[in-house]
Amino acid sequence: MRTPKWYKKHENILLKYVASRGGELVVPYQPGDTFATLRCKEGHTWKTRISNLLACKTWCPECAKVIKAQKRKNASWRKLQKMVANRGGTLITTREEYDGTNKKVRIDCGKGHIMDVTASSILQGRWCGLCRTKWKRKTPPKVVERAFKKIGYTLLEPPTKGLKARYKVIDKKGNVKEIWGFWVKERADGMKKKRIRKPAETTQ
Ligand SMILES: [Zn+2]
Ligand SMILES: [Zn+2]
Repeated sequence: MRTPKWYKKHENILLKYVASRGGELVVPYQPGDTFATLRCKEGHTWKTRISNLLACKTWCPECAKVIKAQKRKNASWRKLQKMVANRGGTLITTREEYDGTNKKVRIDCGKGHIMDVTASSILQGRWCGLCRTKWKRKTPPKVVERAFKKIGYTLLEPPTKGLKARYKVIDKKGNVKEIWGFWVKERADGMKKKRIRKPAETTQ
């Protein structure tokens, strides 16, 4: 049998531990209690076995979840920052605004595009959709324009069709022609000069 003195001591140990964590007992301790109902300083209440509490130094399970989530969030933020920087982009979303991998973040891809994408998609390796479309489909107009200029052709239409298209131009002699973009680009780059045949031109 446990003596009243033992229970008093047990209660003191319990109260001391609870106080050390900044919490309180919701229901006052009674000799013979094996469970305690506790409240943490965040206001969560829970019931736990006193022997576990004191032996394992456990505390509020709700707070533990919050701390775990916070740690995960910090880790994913650091990873996100690293990945964006590695690709030459900038995070516009701040640390304070960041709310986990399921939420959207705003990123400047570094080539003038702003994207709003979930952090998880970036962490999985996705990147700016505009950059991808541009590079896959079309050569930027500036590049096309530069190639025509180098060859000495004056474009009569905006160079927005990429290189796999014909453009109306005026050549050095003042003739209006239609000429393939890729031919002009190859010529301008000075590549494979011997292999290039004379392009199909139509004088108008
Ligand atoms: Zn709590
Ligand atoms: Zn981009």
